[in-house]
Amino acid sequence: MLKLDFHPTGRHFLQIPGPSPVPDRILRAMSLPTIDHRGPEFATLGKKVTQGMQAIFKTRHPVVIYPASGTGAWEAALVNVLSPGDHVLMYESGHFASLWARMATRLGLSTELLAYQGADDQLPQAPSWRRGVQADLIEERLTNDPEHRIQAVCVVHNETSTGVTSDIAAVRRAIDAARHPALLMVDSISGLASADFRHDEWGVDVTVSGSQKGLMLPPGISFNALSPRALEASKSARLPKAFFAWDEIVEMNKTGYFPYTPSTNLLYGLSEALDMIADEGLEAVFARHQRWAAGVRAAVSAWGLAIQCADPAVYSPVLTGVIMPAGVDADAVRALIYERFDLSLGTGLGKVKGRMFRIGHLGDSNDLTLMATLAGCEMGLKLAGVGLQGSGVQAAMDYFASHAAPALKRPG
Ligand SMILES: *Cc1c(COP(=O)(O)O)cnc(C)c1O
Repeated sequence: MLKLDFHPTGRHFLQIPGPSPVPDRILRAMSLPTIDHRGPEFATLGKKVTQGMQAIFKTRHPVVIYPASGTGAWEAALVNVLSPGDHVLMYESGHFASLWARMATRLGLSTELLAYQGADDQLPQAPSWRRGVQADLIEERLTNDPEHRIQAVCVVHNETSTGVTSDIAAVRRAIDAARHPALLMVDSISGLASADFRHDEWGVDVTVSGSQKGLMLPPGISFNALSPRALEASKSARLPKAFFAWDEIVEMNKTGYFPYTPSTNLLYGLSEALDMIADEGLEAVFARHQRWAAGVRAAVSAWGLAIQCADPAVYSPVLTGVIMPAGVDADAVRALIYERFDLSLGTGLGKVKGRMFRIGHLGDSNDLTLMATLAGCEMGLKLAGVGLQGSGVQAAMDYFASHAAPALKRPG
């Protein structure tokens, strides 16, 4: 028998950057009885979640919700606007960017990868993928495409494999400066609802997102936010699409329904998450993640370890990548911390596997859960024999104590 009902005292610390810890309030909302997805009550839920997601993406245009993980929404974004053999410019900022590019190639697109080649990637011991998208490289490449063969530019907003964000507004400016008609497609699977994101203002054509990161839901639903240009492109795009096709979904969503059975209980959870985010205020949600991230970085700096993101301007508010000293296997440290302290940290992915681990600071958390997380890391690093310069726990305590969060709004 598969034993999933393992209950030690206390709770497991799920500090990976997605799935994030799900608030009890959302779990309870999801435990309500499943209703008829063609019945009258459902339309209220359907309209609430599609409209609510427009506020989260900061868009006036349709948001499509798929019963799929983020990978499904990646595929949906590509197949709706592109045709076989189309040339797509993708920026390899990290592992998720390279996976999206691999998918594009598998779908029959011609993919071209741009990547940062700067000096700090050549430092001895420093792994690559330490900077955000360099918009000038995109502008230069588009300027050298006078025939407009490039149909789309794809970038990742928050690279979950590294803890590096990218300036999406700058990418839009680069495309416009090159006077290029390529569509701008953005993966904000782990950025949305944790880091500021503005679909309309930044001129994004398709934004892809998922449920299990900033939205604090279990995995299982994902999103495409559209632009009028993307909708127009979808009418003539020729990659095969049926289940993922926007047209029927957008049409039925107007009445609050879906062309197929939606993930009703996850939509209950989404409705609850939208209420929670609206109560707190989206800008306060972003500030909360920035503050957590600063506290975690204070700890990493005090340990004397390097942060994967080499550019302070683009530190991720969602997660922090911690580089291990040469000769230390980051996965061995993670395994030890998991065994000893029931704390899950994110593994290094792709090129940086074994070189770094990731601390997630998103989802159902607060100062003290992060302090516990950092204590687990510090104990584990010491047990693994990693030489630390000082106490990260002390540094994070000092940071959180001296940077007060807004007072909690308690009832009564
Ligand atoms: C999690 C994640 C994905 C993959 O989403 P799944 O839900 O695992 O399919 C893609 N891109 C980014 C940036 C992610 O964080």
